[in-house]
Amino acid sequence: MLPVGDLVLLDPLTEESLLQTLQERFRRSNIYTYIGNVVISVNPYRSLPIYTPETVQEYRNCNFFAVKPHIYAIADDAYRSLRDRDRDQCILITGESGAGKTEASKLVMSYVAAVCSKGEEVDKVKEQLLQSNPVLEAFGNAKTIRNDNSSRFGKYMDVEFDFKGEPLGGVISNYLLEKSRIVRHVKGERNFHIFYQLLAGGSAQLLQQLKLRQDCRHYGYLNRESSGLPGMDDAANFRAMQVIGFSPAEVTALLEVTAVVLKLGNVQLSSSYQASGMEASSIAEPQELQEICELIGLDPAVLERALCSRTVKARNEMVLTTLSVPQPGKQRKVMGVLDIYGFEIFQDNGFEQFIINYCNEKLQQIFILMTLKEEQEEYVREGIQWTPVEFFDNSIICNLIENSKCGILAMLDEECLRPGVVNEDTFLTKLNQLFATHKHYESKETQNARRVMDATLPSQCFRIHHYAGKVTYNVTGFIEKNNDLLFRDLSQAMWASRHELLRSLFPEGDPQKVSLKLPPTAGFQFKASVATLMKNLYSKNPNYIRCIKPNETKTGMLFTPELVLAQIRYLGLMENVRVRRAGYAFRQLYDSFLQRYKMLSPRTWPHWTGSHREGTKVLLEDLAFPPEELAFGHTKIFIRSPRTLFDLERRRQE
Ligand code: ATP
Ligand code: MG
Repeated sequence: MLPVGDLVLLDPLTEESLLQTLQERFRRSNIYTYIGNVVISVNPYRSLPIYTPETVQEYRNCNFFAVKPHIYAIADDAYRSLRDRDRDQCILITGESGAGKTEASKLVMSYVAAVCSKGEEVDKVKEQLLQSNPVLEAFGNAKTIRNDNSSRFGKYMDVEFDFKGEPLGGVISNYLLEKSRIVRHVKGERNFHIFYQLLAGGSAQLLQQLKLRQDCRHYGYLNRESSGLPGMDDAANFRAMQVIGFSPAEVTALLEVTAVVLKLGNVQLSSSYQASGMEASSIAEPQELQEICELIGLDPAVLERALCSRTVKARNEMVLTTLSVPQPGKQRKVMGVLDIYGFEIFQDNGFEQFIINYCNEKLQQIFILMTLKEEQEEYVREGIQWTPVEFFDNSIICNLIENSKCGILAMLDEECLRPGVVNEDTFLTKLNQLFATHKHYESKETQNARRVMDATLPSQCFRIHHYAGKVTYNVTGFIEKNNDLLFRDLSQAMWASRHELLRSLFPEGDPQKVSLKLPPTAGFQFKASVATLMKNLYSKNPNYIRCIKPNETKTGMLFTPELVLAQIRYLGLMENVRVRRAGYAFRQLYDSFLQRYKMLSPRTWPHWTGSHREGTKVLLEDLAFPPEELAFGHTKIFIRSPRTLFDLERRRQE
């Protein structure tokens, strides 16, 4: 039997049956499967002939249930409700690294671009929306062990449409760029693509202008390795990159800053001891420093002083790029696409995983809230009695992390602000006291108190029971990463340069604006941007794409069940199905329902002359289903359990 295309119809619903269904579908190259209007996408790691212009036509204005599950069906549904029903949409794409999120976001964007109308102005905007990707990926993606083109930031893009459904422009927000990759990456990985692209693809004249050498091995930040990537043509990518909407002068400025970053990696500090016994440092490679200063119009002495008194570290900020937004029309509608890191459980989890998993916890919360809200609204619209459903409410975990008085993030901020010697031990001790009895918090100390012992939990760690599973976080580095301080002398030095773009990146370097207040911590900023994001998402109609990585080796069409099962858990798919069928698993408009099943009753076959609603009632009366199985809405029939639907289908086939 063909495995079901919608897991809501799975019977019985167990982890095994869910897994088997995905596996069987995958084997038949059906990489997409629904849970209601959520689409699960299993990365095929091979190009499938399912994204052709013909496929686009097939899904254009399709009836969601009549065609095979496809990401285009979701994109089409979202676009049509935006255009015709005036509802802002958001598309949330989650999954672990390499699962196919970024590819999915591109498929959605290109589908929307293909189906919305044509015209010179519109085409320009579409071009810009699609072209923003190569630029974002050049600066924000890198080869990692898990993915050759891994996004090292979370991305949210709002595309604005006018009342006719034509795109007007867009706004892109970035979250938590992995900036530490600039200075350090492990062997086998690479720095951000842009550095390699610039060196490989920049003309001799450009490189000379930027005072760069073509050879990767010259640069410390590139691990002094020549690091070409099979299947990725850095030079071609650089030349093909259309930098959207920027003037040539702006592009040059941007590349200058890029070159400066690369060159800074070669500026070595050497330390020596002065007569006083104090340690002092000086620049070991004055040539590099000299060139940097020429590029940015700064006195080398100023930069040297700034560098030698402290260490360099770039500051992470949410960057807002506004594409051209011509003439905001009266009725603007928005489609948001979120491509963000999925839940992470590694051997060793630090501050980054903590932040990422917090974000996923919030996304899960909003998923449940929105799904239930949507269900509830549909029941009200259809005039059906709503009975509250049981589900796991993860607010308790969100609260554990984000509560502004005593959440983990607040405690961390408190530690960071405390004068005197601060360290992670006191932070952990405080957490242990506060959450001694919290059901979702665990550490060596609370374990002792609870008389449960688990040898896998080391002493400098705490463990959180997330909705997706237990994760053990090592507190080492939490304080430094949360503080994320860029020393004032450095931002002041940067602000003193004559390079406009560079100056604009360090507004806090303006001596007129010096404030004694400490800048907000990384955790605080992230929490604030997550809150803004959630508010934004909550105001829209959600569509979900959940991506799954089928194997660890990037092999085409290989499905490793254990690996997928773990993701089924992280993605909360079981809960997802449960919530979806909390009330009624299945619903359909009366006319299509009657059309499909009218042959099952002599009273409705071959023609029914009354209303579709009456016809459906008569038909189901004759089939004698228990009344609690059915509800008759204003326009739709609701069926509670998948079993009833299967029964209908079976009888139809007989
Ligand atoms: P990260 O979190 O690291 O950014 P990701 O979820 O964004 O990962 P992608 O970069 O979208 O992952 O996908 C990884 C690779 O998998 C792609 O470069 C591509 O080779 C392959 N891939 C993903 N989706 C598809 C698809 N629908 N068809 C064919 N190949 C795909
Ligand atoms: Mg990605």
